[in-house]
Amino acid sequence: MNTRAAPISILGAGLTGLLLAHQLGVRGHRVRIYEAASENKPLAAAHVAAAMLAPLAESAISHFRITQMGMYSMQRWTEIILQLAAPVFFQKTGTLVLWHPQDQAEAKRFCSQLNQTLQQDPSIAPYQKLNRAGIDALEPSVSSKLLEGLYLPHEGQLDNRQLLAALLQSVLAQGHELLWASSKDLADFSDSEWVFDCRGIGAKTNWPAVRGVRGEVLRLFAPEVSLSRPTRLLHPKYPIYIAPKENYQFVIGATEIESEDLSPMSLRSSMELMSAAYTIDSAFAEARILESAVGLRPTLSHHDPAIRQISEHHYQINGLYRHGFLIAPSVIDAAIEWAIEGKTELAKQYQIRIYEDYASVSQ
Ligand SMILES: Cc1cc2nc3c(=O)[nH]c(=O)nc-3n(C[C@H](O)[C@H](O)[C@H](O)COP(=O)(O)OP(=O)(O)OC[C@H]3O[C@@H](n4cnc5c(N)ncnc54)[C@H](O)[C@@H]3O)c2cc1C
Repeated sequence: MNTRAAPISILGAGLTGLLLAHQLGVRGHRVRIYEAASENKPLAAAHVAAAMLAPLAESAISHFRITQMGMYSMQRWTEIILQLAAPVFFQKTGTLVLWHPQDQAEAKRFCSQLNQTLQQDPSIAPYQKLNRAGIDALEPSVSSKLLEGLYLPHEGQLDNRQLLAALLQSVLAQGHELLWASSKDLADFSDSEWVFDCRGIGAKTNWPAVRGVRGEVLRLFAPEVSLSRPTRLLHPKYPIYIAPKENYQFVIGATEIESEDLSPMSLRSSMELMSAAYTIDSAFAEARILESAVGLRPTLSHHDPAIRQISEHHYQINGLYRHGFLIAPSVIDAAIEWAIEGKTELAKQYQIRIYEDYASVSQ
C-alpha cells in the first residue's frame, strides 16, 4: 500500500480503532478516525471496562485460542505502552482467585479447566494453591472467612481510561485526524477508499451477527482498602472481580447479561457487586461510589474475535467480547498483517478468524 495515498479511514475511536490507528501510524500510514460520540461523552465499551489481562483465568470460560492471543498480547502491550505519548498504569503482579468454603465445587471446576489449559501449553506459568497463610502473604486485608485461593502469577491489568487517553494523544501526535460526533457507516465510503470498521456494537448495521452483551461495573474510591492486585471471587451464579486502579480507585465488575439495554445499572446488580466487594474486604464499607457504568461487549456467536473483508478495501474488526484488552494487540497485528501486508501468519498461529471471501458477508 502507498503510504502517501489518501488517509485510511477508521470508524470508531474505541479500543480497536485507536490501537489500529496508532499501529498504522507506527508503520508510516496516515489515518482519519470518525467517532460517533462527542469528545467528553464516551460511548465505547472500552471506557467502561475493567481492563484485566487474565489469559489463564479467562481460559476457564473461553477457547484456548483466547489464552494464546492473550499471552502474545501481554508481551505486545509492554512494547506498545512504551511507544505512547503518556504513561499508562500497567500492572503484572498476578491475579488472586478466592472462593467461599461452600463453593468448593466451583473451585474444583475452575481448577480443572485451568489444568486443561496448562496441559495444552506447558509454557504458561502454573497457578499456585494458597491456604490462609498464603492469602495473607499476598493480600492481608482479605476477609478471614476466605480460607483458600489460587495465585495466577503471570496476569495483570491496565488502566483502560489512561490507555485510551494515551492512545488518543499519541495518534494526534502522529499527525492523524480525529473527527468527533461523526457517526459513519461503510456505505458512506466508496469501494476504492481504505476503511477499517472498528465500531464495536455500532457495526451492527453492516454486520448483523454482532450482538451486545450488557456489562455493569461500579467505580469506587476506597482509601481504606489495601488490595493491590485483581482479585476474583468464584461463585456459581455471580462471579465477581475487583480491579484496583491507581489513586485508591477500584472497579468492581462485572455482570454479564444477554441484552443490549444500555439503561442504568439495576438495583440487583449493584447489590451483588457491592456485597461481593464487602465480602472480600470489609473496608469497602466506607467506599464512596464514584460511578456506576454500563457497556455493551461486542460479541459474535462463537465468542471469538473476527476480521472480515467485505469489499476490496473495506475491513471489519469485531467480536472482542469480554476480552478486548486481553487480546487487542494480537487482533490488530493480525489485521494489519492481512489487510495491508497480505500475509496471514499471525492469524493462522493464533487461530484468529479471518473471513476473506466477500461472499461471507452474512456470517
Ligand atoms: C463491563 C465491561 C467490562 C469489561 N472488562 C474487560 C476486562 O476486564 N478485560 C478485557 O480484556 N476486556 C474487557 N471488556 C471488553 C472490552 O471493553 C471490549 O472487548 C472492547 O472495548 C471492544 O473494543 P471495540 O473497539 O470493538 O469496541 P468499543 O470499545 O465499544 O469501541 C467502539 C467505538 O465505535 C464508536 N462508534 C459506534 N458506532 C459508530 C459510528 N456509526 N460511527 C463512528 N463511530 C462509532 C463508539 O462510540 C465507540 O467509541 C469489558 C467490557 C465491558 C462492557
